[in-house]
Order: sequence, then C-alpha cells, then structure tokens
Amino acid sequence: MTDLNSVTVPSPVRLRIDGGALVSNYQALAKASGAAATGAAVKANGYGVGAREVVSRLSKAGCRDFFVAHWSEAVGIADIIPAEQITVLNGVAAADLPLALSLGARPMLNSPEQIQRWRQVGGGRCHVMIDSGINRLGIGPEQIGDGLFNGLDIDILASHLASADEDALQNGEQLAIFHNVAANVRAGRLSFANSAGIMLGSDYHFDLTRPGLSLYGGIARTEMASLIKQVVFPEAQVLQIRNMPAGSPIGYNATYRCVADKRVATVSLGYADGYLRAFSGRGLASFEGQSLLVIGRVSMDLITLDADNATNLREGDWVSIDYALPEASRQSGLSQYELLTGLNSRFDRQWI
Ligand SMILES: *Cc1c(COP(=O)(O)O)cnc(C)c1O
Repeated sequence: MTDLNSVTVPSPVRLRIDGGALVSNYQALAKASGAAATGAAVKANGYGVGAREVVSRLSKAGCRDFFVAHWSEAVGIADIIPAEQITVLNGVAAADLPLALSLGARPMLNSPEQIQRWRQVGGGRCHVMIDSGINRLGIGPEQIGDGLFNGLDIDILASHLASADEDALQNGEQLAIFHNVAANVRAGRLSFANSAGIMLGSDYHFDLTRPGLSLYGGIARTEMASLIKQVVFPEAQVLQIRNMPAGSPIGYNATYRCVADKRVATVSLGYADGYLRAFSGRGLASFEGQSLLVIGRVSMDLITLDADNATNLREGDWVSIDYALPEASRQSGLSQYELLTGLNSRFDRQWI
C-alpha cells in the first residue's frame, strides 16, 4: 500500500508568484509614502497570494505593521513576526478575548462597545478606527463623547478612505474630519491611506500608510501604473485538444458555436478555482506568445480556449492565464480585489 501521506499530488493549476515584484512594490509604495512608515494589509491570506510568504518577505524588507481582518488570520502569522506588529482590523468580539489577550496581536477597536470590552479586561495597547465617512466600520465622530478614550493606550489612530481611487470630493472631506478628530485624541501614530490614498499626496500620509492591493500588483490609481509590477501569474494545464467542425457548440448552454473548423483546447481551470464565469467569452490565455481566447462558458473545473493559432500546444502543456489586474478587471467586470482574493487553495503556489 502506498502511504498516501508521503505522496505529493501535483495540482493542474498553479500560481507563479514573483517575490521580487512583491518586494519591489512594497519599496515603491514606501517611497511614495514619503516620511511615513509603510505597513501591509495581509488579510484574506495576503489577498490570496499567501499570507505567510508575504509576511516573511515584507518583514525582511523592513515592514513592521501587518493588518489582518480576523483573529484566525493573526494566529496564522504570529509565529513569523512579533505579535504586536499584527493589527486585527475587525476588532475584538467577546468570544475573541481569550485569544486576543494571550496572543498579543492588537485589535483595531471600532465601536464604543469594543472599547468598553477592551478596557474592562485591561487589554493594554490597542488601535482605534475613526469612521470619517465610509460609514461602514469605525467610531463615528458623533460617538466621541467625554471620556470615550479615557485610560486607553492607543498606538494607531486610523481612518479609512472610501473613494481614494477616484478624484472625489469625499477624499478631502474625510481628511478634514480625520484631522478634527485626531487633534483631540492622544495616540502614538496616525494612519489614513490605503494603496490609492498614498497617491493622493503627502497630506494623506500621516505616520503610517496601509497598502494592500498594490503590494500584490493592483493598480489602485492610474498614476501608479509605472511603479507597480504584476505579482501573480496563474497557469493551468491542458487536458485535451480537439479539432471541432464548423457549427459545433462549445460548453454549457452552447453560448459559443464554431463558425469554422476550430482547434479547441480544454484547460483545467474553472470557477471553483476562482476563475469566475465573468471571463466567459472574454478571458485570455497565452502559449509561446500566442493569445488564446476563452470561448464558451467557464465551468466549474474547465475552460475551453480557441487554440487555432497555438499549433504547438499539446495535452499536458501549461498555458499562462492573462491576469494583469487592470486588464483582467476590464475583461471580467470583477474588481482587482476580487480577482486576487478569489484565487483559492486549489492552486499550487510557486514563488519565483
Ligand atoms: C484592506 C484595508 C486596507 C488596504 O486597502 P487597499 O485598498 O487594498 O490598499 C487598508 N486599511 C483598511 C482598514 C483596510 O480594511
């Protein structure tokens, strides 16, 4: 009998992840952040890239502030870096307290209830999120009554921009509100800008910036296109190649019909990997410099490609999936964030 625990099963889908590009993006964002320190949002498994690898590489590159959403995500990286470098953005619920107190990662307190909870258990140093207008998570300025922050040892006082990827009036409005609040709260550091916010200029930088998307190759604003490199390169294996006669329907519901004889490559990639149906008829792959269009519908584990021009393509070959984030976002209508965070555990992650 084969010992199944000792078998490594190769996956037919993989992500090539460019660690040099990740570090280069961090350095570019740090430079664009001017005098401010630059942290890293590594929630959602480092935007799908792999939180542990991201954290160890960015830690070596000088990053000292890492932001996750859940306590489980903090646990997942707490053996790599000092726990006090980890901020849990979603705050602390009653059920999180035992772990929060023993782990030593710090919550971003988002409500008077969370502040009260943290103070009651003598939680120690913490961070506070002010909601300056995204109206989603954080303490609204109107909630800041006398004594709300009394006795709290606040390291980072933060707020989060809603529309930094646009030239919206809301950016300046949120900035003014954050200034007003910050003037009256004692905190170690102020933090305001995400990836897009960094490009709004030094008024938005304060002491610490918190990029996520652009670390991983996302172009949050067009000004940063020349600074940021693609990090994630999905690849998938060809399962079958067939020559289909003119008139053949392809895939579920026959949304594509061959107008002429066509060479069709079926590839092991589908929406269950995170390659969503929005790419049906729109996504592109490439092989030896030839572009291959996704024809027909993306199914759960398979896509079909027009391989007329890829005459050398054979069963077992790997095709590269076009995944430059701004272009893939335009093709699919998915956000750059969704494109990254959807890439799931079916992919082998290979750092290059
Ligand atoms: C996710 C997140 C970030 C990072 O935002 P990007 O747009 O990915 O750069 C920063 N701050 C907070 C509070 C976040 O939730």
